Amino acid sequence: MFAKFLKTALLGIAALGIGAVQAQNYPTRPITVIVPFAAGGPTDVIARIVSEHMGKVLGQQLIVENVVGAGGTTGITKAFGATPDGYTIMMGHMGTHGAAPALYKNLKYKPASDFEPIGMAAGTPILVVARKDFPAKDLKEFVAYIKANGDKLNEGQAGVGSVSFSTCIMFNVLAGAKPTRVPYTGTGPVINDMMAGKIDYACDQIVSVASQIQGGSIKAYAIATEARSPALPDIPTTAEAGLPEFKVSAWNALFAPKGTPQDVVAKLNAALSTALNDPATKKRLEDLGGVVPKEGAERTSKWLGDFVAAEVKKWGEIIQAGGVVAQ
Ligand code: ASP
Repeated sequence: MFAKFLKTALLGIAALGIGAVQAQNYPTRPITVIVPFAAGGPTDVIARIVSEHMGKVLGQQLIVENVVGAGGTTGITKAFGATPDGYTIMMGHMGTHGAAPALYKNLKYKPASDFEPIGMAAGTPILVVARKDFPAKDLKEFVAYIKANGDKLNEGQAGVGSVSFSTCIMFNVLAGAKPTRVPYTGTGPVINDMMAGKIDYACDQIVSVASQIQGGSIKAYAIATEARSPALPDIPTTAEAGLPEFKVSAWNALFAPKGTPQDVVAKLNAALSTALNDPATKKRLEDLGGVVPKEGAERTSKWLGDFVAAEVKKWGEIIQAGGVVAQ
């Protein structure tokens, strides 16, 4: 009996030792970053930008894997079930880790308690964007037009629970519009179809639309933040453009599956922060309108954990108020 106990105890101690050594050497092989949306959208773009520099810091490549579907919840559900060893992490956002629980009755994960938050990657203001030949010269005309012709218009969004889905619920309610809501696997393909004239408008995160707006292949009516974005200084805020009630912002952040060792999470957090301080990485994010979190509290795992809990609560209330029924 005692011998058996001793053997089990020794095995336990040995396993702990191996765990500690593994964490010390971590990472010894490439790390998969699950992106729950299609390539070319903001989640994908932000993941690729920060991964590149994090890979240099950690001495191992971070490889993006796009696992799409169900407004990002398919990819996050997959990442949630991955071995918590630091070799699979994920790029979540305001949809997957904020709005989704209010929209899916049987969501497999709880954003605030089923993950190890790594850190915030970027804040992403929301813009109301439309095909370049949309017949409205400013936001007021746009709102009047979609109110009158909504049933003939296609609004592109990245699936139930996504940022574009949830923020445009707010926008459509405020505008009194009822467009056809066309689901995609991410807003990268939404914007491609908008450039081809197949999608009339969308509410999207700045990072996937800034260069197209600058280049004139789509147009933006307003940015839903307090102040204009330095990346798009000519685009008025919704308050300036006459719809001050539409104020909303999104974000993208890295998470690891629950149970990932804390020292591994700390290494990932430090690598992310180093990447955000790297002038070239920071500039790439900021040129696209991304808001890099300030050094200090906002960069910590703890801050992200508290923020996610607040976001789940906030979006639960907004979605309930919008009268949207969970699937
Ligand atoms: N911006 C998208 C959303 O609406 C997702 C993406 O493609 O990153 O949630």
